[in-house]
Amino acid sequence: MAVPKKKTSQSRKGMRRSHDALKGVNATECSNCGAPKLSHHICSSCGHYRGRQVFSKPESSSAAL
Ligand SMILES: [Zn+2]
Repeated sequence: MAVPKKKTSQSRKGMRRSHDALKGVNATECSNCGAPKLSHHICSSCGHYRGRQVFSKPESSSAAL
């Protein structure tokens, strides 16, 4: 079994993990309803994309999918 020759120090571990942080999503404001949405994506709350209705959300009766 391959075993590391030296203990990985806290400093070396910290240096390795300096790139591990997650970046936040780039949310923009929907031009139709103003809800936060991902750029280049359909607005999930109103279904608009570039000023056009792409899909209409079903009425909130059956949300079990
Ligand atoms: Zn919207």
